[in-house]
Amino acid sequence: MDFSWTEEQEIWRKTVREFAQKKIKPRVREIDSNKKIPEDIVEEMAQLGLLAPTVPKQYGGSDVDWIMACIAAEELGRADISLAIPVLYLVEAAWGYIFSRYGTEKAKKEYLPQVTSGKAFVGIAVTEPQGGSDIVGAAKTKAVKKEGRWILNGEKIFISGVAESKKWGGIHLTLARTDPNSGHRGFSFFAVPLKNNPNIETTLFDDMGRMGISTGGFVMKNTVLHEHHLVGELNKGFYYAMEGFSAARVLIGATCIGAAEAALEMGMEHIKTRYAFGQPIGCFEGIQFPLAEHYTNIEGIKLLTYRAAWMMDKMYRENRFTHHDVALAAAMSKLRAPMYAFDVMNEIADWLGALGYTKEHSIEMGIRGVRSYSIGAEGTMNIMRIIIARELLGKEFLPYKNIIIR
Ligand SMILES: Cc1cc2nc3c(=O)[nH]c(=O)nc-3n(C[C@H](O)[C@H](O)[C@H](O)COP(=O)(O)OP(=O)(O)OC[C@H]3O[C@@H](n4cnc5c(N)ncnc54)[C@H](O)[C@@H]3O)c2cc1C
Repeated sequence: MDFSWTEEQEIWRKTVREFAQKKIKPRVREIDSNKKIPEDIVEEMAQLGLLAPTVPKQYGGSDVDWIMACIAAEELGRADISLAIPVLYLVEAAWGYIFSRYGTEKAKKEYLPQVTSGKAFVGIAVTEPQGGSDIVGAAKTKAVKKEGRWILNGEKIFISGVAESKKWGGIHLTLARTDPNSGHRGFSFFAVPLKNNPNIETTLFDDMGRMGISTGGFVMKNTVLHEHHLVGELNKGFYYAMEGFSAARVLIGATCIGAAEAALEMGMEHIKTRYAFGQPIGCFEGIQFPLAEHYTNIEGIKLLTYRAAWMMDKMYRENRFTHHDVALAAAMSKLRAPMYAFDVMNEIADWLGALGYTKEHSIEMGIRGVRSYSIGAEGTMNIMRIIIARELLGKEFLPYKNIIIR
């Protein structure tokens, strides 16, 4: 066992940190207020290889492994605690990778170089108005093949990057039923372009946080797709979605750790210089003890998260560990990191006193941003608990299986 970073990992962290601290951090309030990631930042991210970096080089990616992908996620979270830029980064890193694994050659050549150069977006569209947790029970979107084309009908909701995809171009990997009688084995994945698509109507939500990236929905009414927009094998879409969720959850863990570390650093600066009762408030045990707890917990969750990334690298590159092993590790990271980042930020807001309740300080952007990941983006906390318990007890104990065990 070796807990040290390689030279390559250290150089990558330094490169991303320098860029993010210099170019992103000073503009987070602007991004939050304008509800938009500035184009020059997207361009520089593309130049640095920060857009879908997990994608193979032949499609414009950097073919980075998951530890490297997590390092960048952590550094972007440290710089942008509102999490808008980390969302752009991690959604594309996770789902761009899934597309690069399972998409047709024609579709990958059409979209991935555009994504990695910042001219298109790749996202995920699973959730529907009837619910996101029980997707098998709730999903109504259907795809039917007619004369060599796929016809999609249905609605996706609470989808990240709808405005970006509509403006820039790109695709959302969209889950649709292709066999209504086969439960989770009856779904397929489709690459659905939202831009200039006359048979798609989009909507946008006014979110609580991570304002720089949009959340919206889209309705497909007889949306026609070429055959090469089917991603992977027919009726395997549910499995590809679960694989992508694991990847996204590990990156979420890393980015929430980065945001929590940044918050703790801001808090430490404040408690060393803010005086009350004749001494810096950092001298009081009521302040120091939570600091020690938070630091220890962040370090623990960081280990959990990087171990999950390491397992993914072993799975993809050395054929060790299964998707179930990775799903368990990813769920543990996603269960802890967002909620914990939220707790840390709440504590720091207390330390800041009234300042923490104003927009003079960035902590409120962090609180609004990380909440998206504990509420549900890429799976709710209870769904993480269900995955963990499923891996411990076996799938016959899944709470929604309705099987009576004697
Ligand atoms: C900011 C944001 C961005 C998002 N981006 C995307 C995206 O890009 N693509 C996409 O497809 N989706 C996206 N989502 C949707 C997200 O995946 C869903 O919100 C999530 O899956 C939960 O679905 P739901 O909101 O319908 O809640 P529901 O599924 O209705 O769940 C409501 C509550 O019930 C609980 N619950 C449900 N079943 C059980 C159970 N068996 N046991 C215990 N508790 C249970 C849940 O944990 C939750 O607390 C996004 C969400 C947010 C907030």
